[in-house]
Amino acid sequence: MMDIRVNAVPSEERKPKPSDENSLGFGNIFTDHMFLMDYRQDLGWHNARIEPYSPIVLDPAAMCLHYGQMIFEGLKCYRRADGGLQLFRPRDNFRRFNGSGYRVCIPHLDEDQALDALTELLHLEQDWVPRAPGTSLYIRPTIIATEPHLGVRPALEYIYFVILGPVGAYYKEGFNPVKILVEDKFVRSVRGGVGEAKTAGNYAASLFAAEQAHQKGFTQVLWLDAIERKYVEEVGTMNIFFMIDDEVVTSPLAGSVLSGITRATVIDLVREWGDFRVSERPISIDEVMAAAKDGRLTEAFGSGTAAVISPVGQIVYKDETVQVADGRTGPLAQKLFDEITAIQYGTKPDTHGWVETL
Ligand SMILES: *Cc1c(COP(=O)(O)O)cnc(C)c1O
Repeated sequence: MMDIRVNAVPSEERKPKPSDENSLGFGNIFTDHMFLMDYRQDLGWHNARIEPYSPIVLDPAAMCLHYGQMIFEGLKCYRRADGGLQLFRPRDNFRRFNGSGYRVCIPHLDEDQALDALTELLHLEQDWVPRAPGTSLYIRPTIIATEPHLGVRPALEYIYFVILGPVGAYYKEGFNPVKILVEDKFVRSVRGGVGEAKTAGNYAASLFAAEQAHQKGFTQVLWLDAIERKYVEEVGTMNIFFMIDDEVVTSPLAGSVLSGITRATVIDLVREWGDFRVSERPISIDEVMAAAKDGRLTEAFGSGTAAVISPVGQIVYKDETVQVADGRTGPLAQKLFDEITAIQYGTKPDTHGWVETL
């Protein structure tokens, strides 16, 4: 067990909690405290502490600011109907965090200690976990390279921090299947690149195409592979699933696709239910468009922690537009959403060992 110094904000100085939990957005509000830990090559990870939430002082030469050496994670803390708190597959997040770190030369973090530290922070901030249906406390673990140095090489100093903030229900009025634009010019990531790491550059690389798509009225970009502009990889910052005949298909994890924990959960559940085959295989945009035109593409949906499941209602590729399931939410997307959220919020028993109660 690591020693964590706690510098708590006096209760009378804590921020007011959001007054209307039904109008919480995403990523605008942060709690009173944050967890921090430093890394130095000679000391390893040290100085674990919980401090008041506040700006971080960085040298302008801090390497993360110049070369993007950083990693992050995203997970949520859910409040059960009985008031208790729980996490969903958090060990998978910390394992992936280290995987991302390995790819961008960031030192390894002890996963058990990281989960213990998160648990201690959550205990202190438990009143910040909202109660309204569909709301949660979003958790953002992050490591940044802080060493002041302008040569390109892995830094020798880092900060690990965890910030928290209450977030709203993604779907307030039920699902709203989205319109997506297949991006055939820009790419998010390339096999051999850093697309499988949750690192800042991937998101910077995605902004321009996403902005152009938004201006044309689309919610998300459907990313194709960088080499042939042929195989579907992800949708926005979510993994993508297609149901064609009785096969549920998602892109394989071949280096350019992020290994989503929701993706893994969808695969596990659909396999377990046994009604459909699940394939992790390359799927070309031509196959998707042809199946849509033949009426064999019965569902398409994205998966990720923020939305859980995001049904796709329309796909536009070059000058062709296809509807998916008449623009409505398919039964599999609905069933997955209901099942996953029921486990996350504890209204269904966790038979998979996915839930960690606090
Ligand atoms: C985080 C992320 C996902 C989804 O991962 P989850 O663990 O399911 O939240 C998918 N694609 C990208 C690019 C991501 O950053």
